Amino acid sequence: MKTLTLIWSILFSLPLSGQQPIDSRTREIVFRSVNIIPMDEDRIIENQTVIVKNGKITAIGTRLKHAADAEIIEAKGMYLMPGLAEMHAHVPPIDDIEPMKEVLILFAANGITTIRGMLGHPKHLELRTKIQSREILGPHFFTTGPSFNGMSITSPESGSEMVRKQKAMGYDYLKLHPGLSREKFDAIATTAKEVGIPFAGHVSFGVGVWRAIDAGYSSIDHLDGFVEGLVPGIEKMVEQQAGLFGMFVADRVDESTIPVLMKALAEKNIWVVPTQSLAERWFAPDFTPEKFMMDPHHVYMKPETVKQWSDSKKNLINNSQYDPEKIKSFISLRRKLVLECQRNGVGLLLGCDAPQVFNVPGFSTHHELEYLVQSGLTPFQALQTGTTNVARYLNQPNAGTIKPGNLADLILLNANPLLNISNTQKIDGVMVDGRWLSKSFIQGELKKLEK
Ligand SMILES: [Zn+2]
Repeated sequence: MKTLTLIWSILFSLPLSGQQPIDSRTREIVFRSVNIIPMDEDRIIENQTVIVKNGKITAIGTRLKHAADAEIIEAKGMYLMPGLAEMHAHVPPIDDIEPMKEVLILFAANGITTIRGMLGHPKHLELRTKIQSREILGPHFFTTGPSFNGMSITSPESGSEMVRKQKAMGYDYLKLHPGLSREKFDAIATTAKEVGIPFAGHVSFGVGVWRAIDAGYSSIDHLDGFVEGLVPGIEKMVEQQAGLFGMFVADRVDESTIPVLMKALAEKNIWVVPTQSLAERWFAPDFTPEKFMMDPHHVYMKPETVKQWSDSKKNLINNSQYDPEKIKSFISLRRKLVLECQRNGVGLLLGCDAPQVFNVPGFSTHHELEYLVQSGLTPFQALQTGTTNVARYLNQPNAGTIKPGNLADLILLNANPLLNISNTQKIDGVMVDGRWLSKSFIQGELKKLEK
């Protein structure tokens, strides 16, 4: 009897087959009979074989030879698309790498193969190295440094000094938060240009979107400053009157100035990360805490986080300036601005700011795609924001599309997302930097993360 128990416990402690990533550096991986969504244009190439070796797509065709010991993925009727990027991600800014790994798994499990961390920490530089060396499994990782805001920056000089320091430390971007005066912002922007580090994020109320565009933000996130920039006489108001992202002044917008804003953004090549999902879930009156609890993904957040989110929503609704009808118009105005960006050639990047109110890392990136389509983008255009647009933004010609020679960052789907954007959530497997995460591996990892 004892022996039997021992055998059972040994059996169950071994990883079941398919429950470890398969690395294309040690073994060729072949997708058979798959429909490819190459993302070079709005099309599908049906019934193809795709071979991946050493982290790259090496061949695509119908009669290809592969290694005898190749890992074969039977994908008849399935769809293979490039991995998605989340350009406004958050990785815990703490000294401990362990909790960071959980977030990385949530992203990878959702087919997010590139992330840009938007609140940096020195430990993230180590994390970036460990992901690159494949010691830690996770999406390609870019990171800002710690926040520039009204509190962390005490003078224009301290702003310049922090820019130089973060550049020297090796951060990829600077993260700007609210509260910067015009003088502090100018010093930061000038020094950033001088030393060659891009800055991104919020637009401080005292800076305003027009100055932000002129200064050459790398990306403006949350559409921050857009609404305020369209309100005549905004300079006579105080920040609290406008509310976060201008939510309390949306009814005062002069819509005839929208084309001027779009032209300025396009001319200065300013990229935009709408994080519409944040606005729809945090601000909209009809997205209630109860609605969030019906979202099966809430299990990946700690109960205390969910409580904070609910409290934050309640606080907002209890604000004397909060008028549900006006907020609904504000959300519609934001959707309109997203569509105008698309129509006017302003580059949109996919991002949703999880884990912020009612947005679970990884899963919420797919909600953002749905909100982009609800804003008027076609499914193909929405997918571009997380694939080809990102490759252009990051200057990575070998990413964002499926073709021989490109990085093997892929999502295998059970249904066609060009027909229905929600189909990006029907994931059968993910390839991150040439490592294949099967459905059973993903399910096993997600199970471990339930709270
Ligand atoms: Zn953020």
